[in-house]
Amino acid sequence: MLDFDPASQPAPNGHFINGKLDTGISQSLPVHRPSDGKAFTEIPVADSETVDHAVGSALGAYRRTDWARQAPRNRALVLCRWADLVDDHCIELAQLEALGSTRPIAQAAGWDVPYLAKTIRFFAELADKHGGEVAATADSQLGFTLTEPYGVVAAIAPWNFPLVMAGWKLAPALAAGNAVVLKPSELTPLSVVRLAQLAVEAGVPPGIFNVIQGDGKQSGEALCRHPGVSKITFTGSTATGAAIMAASAASGIKPMTLELGGKSPQIVFHDADPDLAARCVARGILGNAGQVCVAGSRLIVHRRLRDEVVERTAALMSQVSPGPTWHEATGFSPIISRKQYDRVDRIVKSTIGQGAEPLIGNREMEGFDGGAFYAPTILTGVTGEMDAARKEVFGPVLTVQDFEDEEEGLMLADHPEYGLAAGLYTKDLSRALRAVRHLEVGTIWVNRYGRSEDLIIPTGGYKRSGIGKDLGRQAFEANLQTKSALIEIGT
Ligand code: NAD
Repeated sequence: MLDFDPASQPAPNGHFINGKLDTGISQSLPVHRPSDGKAFTEIPVADSETVDHAVGSALGAYRRTDWARQAPRNRALVLCRWADLVDDHCIELAQLEALGSTRPIAQAAGWDVPYLAKTIRFFAELADKHGGEVAATADSQLGFTLTEPYGVVAAIAPWNFPLVMAGWKLAPALAAGNAVVLKPSELTPLSVVRLAQLAVEAGVPPGIFNVIQGDGKQSGEALCRHPGVSKITFTGSTATGAAIMAASAASGIKPMTLELGGKSPQIVFHDADPDLAARCVARGILGNAGQVCVAGSRLIVHRRLRDEVVERTAALMSQVSPGPTWHEATGFSPIISRKQYDRVDRIVKSTIGQGAEPLIGNREMEGFDGGAFYAPTILTGVTGEMDAARKEVFGPVLTVQDFEDEEEGLMLADHPEYGLAAGLYTKDLSRALRAVRHLEVGTIWVNRYGRSEDLIIPTGGYKRSGIGKDLGRQAFEANLQTKSALIEIGT
């Protein structure tokens, strides 16, 4: 039985710097439970002094300990021990996640935490599987490259999957030998503190993985601007990514990985299996109540299949099981905050004002005291210029557009700004491959929607959906810089 009582759930809280929990609160922010809206704790807000302390501790540990210099296999072993501890503490971590985020306990325990452990193991296993190159030079010289960690990596994470998103950032950075200062979202700050404690228990030297708490404007920006930070890895909205680029340009030209917003299409061609397509489309917009960067929020369906696919999708989207995240039976998430709920509702209403028709949803789900649950919503009669088709809604809202031929379908699928992911459904291999070539997005799923656990497949955006990749070898390599050496050795 995974149900738990949120009122009696202990949660470590504070900054975690140099292996110690720092609970000193000068300035603080309340933290709310999305399921019932209750403020249940406060976090400290890192000011420039705290940021300086965290980055200084990371830099000190990076220089003082042998984390970066030891045989990488030893680092891999420590990280694998950490992954084992994550698995051993699965229920505890899942409860912390479910307490303060939108992740239902059954999903957090069944997927988020085990997936986090797999992510750590995947990157640990890459730690000793890279190297430089010897260059083609004259015999009188030897030219070669070395790959080395950057030093201190600043990792900034969003609220939608707090542990999983943190893991995508932390695991490759640490496996490559860097030290990390992580700032989780101020909306979901708790679970990563326990994760950091487990890292130290596994043998990660104190100071190599630090957590600071706080908002974006003060704490996040101070972290990105700190001169001791050599690389930034960020997941969040496109607007914040742009602000971080500007801060980096003004404070030292730091390399960065940016995983940003999306507005992903799901294209159903006339030869698709309508049942499969409807199941994938529904799943692709209902997961975490649409609060997923790769939410498949735009259904683009061939006119011949339109009514059937929309009808089947609507039936599936009407069968969700909302509830508090601490109940095992809950399958459908609350919206993270009332503010975000209001934004979702505003976009739906303005799109209806622009001529779209609500088929289902367009209302609050009743019976949840304090929590903000948005009913799964389908908007038909949508054009690409309407708000819900253009803006990232980050809620369970699906727009429907239809098309007559392949060219028109692909044209509708292209978004002017975002290029994160796309799903397509067809039995024709050539059509699928033509679409894979055409679509300007970072990830394409054919006859499925969503990632597998093949962590070797990188993920990241085209256009304003981001720069660089999470997961895969590319994420690991992005945490290393290349040094070239050319030596005169004589003849
Ligand atoms: P957000 O941009 O509001 O915040 C993300 C993080 O950035 C938070 O920790 C926040 O405190 C911090 N931050 C805010 N302003 C900052 C600043 N000026 N300097 C430094 N840090 C700052 O995003 P969010 O609302 O937490 O998350 C939702 C967004 O994340 C969506 O747009 C979603 O698509 C995106 N996302 C993308 C991916 C991906 O892989 N591409 C994955 C998950 C979420």
